Amino acid sequence: MDQPESAPELSALIPLKDEAANIAPLLATLKPVLAACCSSFEIIFVDDGSRDGTLEALRDAHAEDVRVKVMALSRNLGKEIAIAAGLDAARGKAVIILDADLQHPPSAIPAMVTLWRQGYENVFATRASRAEETRLKQFLTRRFYRMFEVLGETPLPAGAGDFRLLDRKAVMALRAMGERARFNKGLYSWIGFRSIGVPVTFGLRHSGRSKFSYRQLTRFAFDGLMSFSTLPLKVWTYVGTLISTGSVATALYFLARTMIFGADVPGFATLIVSVLFLAGVQLMSLGIMGEYVGRIFAEVKGRPLYLVSERLGLELDALRGPLPPLPTPMN
Ligand code: UDP
Ligand code: MG
Repeated sequence: MDQPESAPELSALIPLKDEAANIAPLLATLKPVLAACCSSFEIIFVDDGSRDGTLEALRDAHAEDVRVKVMALSRNLGKEIAIAAGLDAARGKAVIILDADLQHPPSAIPAMVTLWRQGYENVFATRASRAEETRLKQFLTRRFYRMFEVLGETPLPAGAGDFRLLDRKAVMALRAMGERARFNKGLYSWIGFRSIGVPVTFGLRHSGRSKFSYRQLTRFAFDGLMSFSTLPLKVWTYVGTLISTGSVATALYFLARTMIFGADVPGFATLIVSVLFLAGVQLMSLGIMGEYVGRIFAEVKGRPLYLVSERLGLELDALRGPLPPLPTPMN
């Protein structure tokens, strides 16, 4: 293994932004749970550019207990990247990812650890209900998953999210994914490994409010679809073929009509409707291509995934820089 001797058995990984009020209650529930179900643990907080007192609270928590480690990113880069950064830093034989707002109940961890000890490498909590979210959000979420099912080339297990336990092998596999537009839900499923879901009742957010706006969620949905599907690109071939076939048929129809009945004044309405329709279809397909080209541009620039502004308790050798090395051959 690539693990130093002192590596803890479990790493808890918590990405957070503006969660100062949740840190103490989270640690109070998480620490006893971890202490009871493993021989040693570390808790890694990845501060994703918080603007409230989160970083100060984390510094205090680290001063109190060195098993609490902190990596502060240079600015807000989003939860997906914060998780990637945390995976680079975590040294545990298994890593448990959870939210800071106590929606992911630490009480579910022992069951996940038991399954890991039985040999499962990708143990995810499945969320039974989203009843605590607004109707609109539930509706849009359902639509997104339905669309992903149709378009995506990777199946997503129902109700599975970021709350999960990953074996070292799965962590190394995720670290080997260099992509910048990260859609972790898809990546967790793409990597495979022995996977199993555990039904978990999610709690209510302890303090503060959700950090995601509808705008961010839309962006995220696009990232998800486009990094796991090329169908939106390819579909235009079919749309184009269909429209061309239709226009040839129409041309033949008008030709026959003119030859039989002679020329009449062609309808202006038909003309304008078809021009507008075609212009719309073309712009839409160009737009979709633009989305992909934009993503290709972001990838080829090859900027680091994240920059670290502060780290507490994380040794330098644990941080192999933003671009993770390929995993060592695994048995
Ligand atoms: N989060 C983050 N960066 C962001 C937004 C959110 O690290 O840009 C963290 C947040 O602090 C929390 C977790 O991601 O620990 C889940 O966020 P939230 O509870 O706001 O999402 P929701 O539960 O509404 O999906
Ligand atoms: Mg939440």
